[in-house]
Amino acid sequence: MRARRASVADVIPFSWVDGPGNRFVAFLQGCNLDCLACHNPQTIPLRSAHAQELTVDDLMERVRQSMPYISGVTVSGGEATLQHEFVLDWFSELKGSRDTARLSTLIDTNGTATQATWEALAPVTDGVMVDLKVLDDGRHRELTGHSNAAVRESISFLAGTGLLYEVRLLLVPGQNDSDAELRALADWLLGVDPRVRVKINPFMTHGVRAAARGWPQTSAGDESRYRATLTDQGLQNVV
Ligand code: SF4
Repeated sequence: MRARRASVADVIPFSWVDGPGNRFVAFLQGCNLDCLACHNPQTIPLRSAHAQELTVDDLMERVRQSMPYISGVTVSGGEATLQHEFVLDWFSELKGSRDTARLSTLIDTNGTATQATWEALAPVTDGVMVDLKVLDDGRHRELTGHSNAAVRESISFLAGTGLLYEVRLLLVPGQNDSDAELRALADWLLGVDPRVRVKINPFMTHGVRAAARGWPQTSAGDESRYRATLTDQGLQNVV
């Protein structure tokens, strides 16, 4: 039985930062990680008074209103794959409807979904953007409350199937951005796919919880160092 409605934290009719081109974005409520650096901690609880219950039809109607201006849709979160049956229904509807079939479908994820979930979503998904918070598992547990084993498995699996659009790195000064950490990260990613697209996301304190509010924000100089270190290590597609 497919879920036909989802708990949705927010919907944006047009976005330039959630994948290539101009995109309609739905942010689903609920996340299974608890990242100290989370920019939207209000999307972490599975239930929220601020979330809306929306059906596939509701989202299709909103997508159609944005159609003249968008090249695709992205489902984000929270963690979108916690409601993967809804994502499957929505993307199936998009791909199966004559007027929306041209839209590309992307998932922005923390990478904790199982291989079975990715296999189920693959026929109606054009690409997946996966966050990798930090490579070292102990550090990952400190920063997110959980192991990154499933995240690394997802990245490897998605790269192998051609579904991996990009790996996203939220680099936080003093938390996960040392040269040694960046080099280890690059080496691991090179082992997955030397051509993997890697996107550096700067850390900003806007919206974060008290525990991370005093952390320094990523400067332009930090970003230059990250890009140089990752590129020097052999990654060819760092953006
Ligand atoms: S995975 Fe994303 S939404 Fe979930 S807690 Fe971490 S930063 Fe927030």
